[in-house]
Formats: sequence, structure tokens, C-alpha cells
Amino acid sequence: MHIFFGTPQGKDRFLIQGEEFQHFKARRIRKGEPIGIIWGGNVYLCEPESIGKIEAVCLVKGRLGSKKPSVSVTLYQAVPVELKTFDLIIQKSTELGVMKVVPLITGRSFRNRHVLMKRMHRWTRIYREAMKQSGRAYELDISEPMEVGSLEPEHELNILLDNFYEGEPLGAMNLKGVRDVGLVVGPEGGFSEEESEALRDKGFISVKLEPHTLRTETAAIVGVGIIVNLAGS
Ligand code: SAH
Repeated sequence: MHIFFGTPQGKDRFLIQGEEFQHFKARRIRKGEPIGIIWGGNVYLCEPESIGKIEAVCLVKGRLGSKKPSVSVTLYQAVPVELKTFDLIIQKSTELGVMKVVPLITGRSFRNRHVLMKRMHRWTRIYREAMKQSGRAYELDISEPMEVGSLEPEHELNILLDNFYEGEPLGAMNLKGVRDVGLVVGPEGGFSEEESEALRDKGFISVKLEPHTLRTETAAIVGVGIIVNLAGS
């Protein structure tokens, strides 16, 4: 089923307008065809009742729900030097139910803050597209870039993904019932020794992923996937 963003009209209708209406038309949706409309943290089952030149009016038929993972994951992701990789991380984070992504500036990451701020609009477009594709009704919070030195272990569980760590893998951790996780992922060149030591001293727990060294985007996707699927109650 196709899903769009809508704006409410009266008690039981939504309008699809602007850019969303362009998408709607491109998909050749007909009157009466069931579609989903995202609004206010919910997905509604709707049927277009009139399709005009600039908008479609859709009647609400029911609510498809407002699923959310029971664990809130904040991903502190070192920005890859190949900046386009961050697009993929935003898309997959949306599909996987991450609540917040914090672009992290480290010694070996992409470091130009100004360029990152200019990317916000593009990332918003990417996560909203991923929301529709995955039927996710709540927004992804993308915060302003942050220096790794300012990172504090402010979550219930604060994890540092660390490919040099020899101990317990993430998959073996008891994540049952955990509700709030901060996950830190390094850049392609890894964290410097000082950076990872400082994070550990602050209280971040080093954890590895099996079996090999992963690219930063793979580590982020797998890490989040494990947490979202194993945590919560
Ligand atoms: N070039 C570095 C690898 C960095 S991989 C090296 O040679 O060591 C990029 C980031 O992904 C790492 O900083 C870490 O946060 C995460 N990562 C990659 N593979 C991992 C693994 N097997 N276990 C835990 N974290 C991993």
C-alpha cells in the first residue's frame, strides 16, 4: 500500500497537497483505492474521494496504528568522510526505529560543520521518504553535529562499538527490558586510542560485533538492529 503525508481537514478527511500530491499523482492512485496517510504519529487507512489539480481529498476509513519500538535508541554516528554514506545510515536508522541520530565529529570523521548543517534538508527528505516506505509514523530527530569530546553517557545503557575490544559481543548482552540506549559508532578510520579511552573513562561500555571488522555503516545498522530486536519488554 502507498503511504503519504497528509494534513487534516475536518474530523474524518485528509488533504494530500504540494510535493506529496506530486508523489500521489506519479503513483497513479485512483479514487477509492486504499492508501495510508501519516499524520500526528499515526498511520491512517484512507480512500481518496476526489482528486483535483492541486490536491486530493481522502476519507479516513480506520487507523493502521502507531507502532514504536519499546527501546529508544540514540545513534551517535561519526560522519563518514564519504558523506553520501550518511544518507544510507539515515535511511536505515529510520526503517529500524532509531529515535535520534547525532552526527559525531571525531579526529578521523568528516569534520566540516558548515557543510553538515547544509545537509540537514537532504537528510530530512531522506528520512521522510523512509518513513513512508516503512510505515513509520513518528519523526526521526536529527540533531546538530557534536564533537566526540562533548559526548556524555546520558542513557540507561551507553555502548561504544569497538572493533578492538576482545570481550563480550553485543549479541550476547542481556538487553531485555532496556528502554534507552545510546550507541556510538566510529568513522571509517576508527576512533583514535585517546578518543575511545576517554569514552570508556566516562562510562561508555565497549562492545564488539561478530565476526569481522565492519564498515561504519554496517556496524551502525547491525548494532541498531540487534538492540531494537533484543531490547524492550
Ligand atoms: N579502520 C578501522 C576500522 C573502523 S570500522 C580499523 O582498522 O580498525 C568503523 C567503526 O565501526 C569502528 O570505529 C567501530 O565503532 C565500528 N565497528 C566496525 N566493526 C566492528 C566490530 N566488529 N565490532 C564493534 N564495532 C565495530
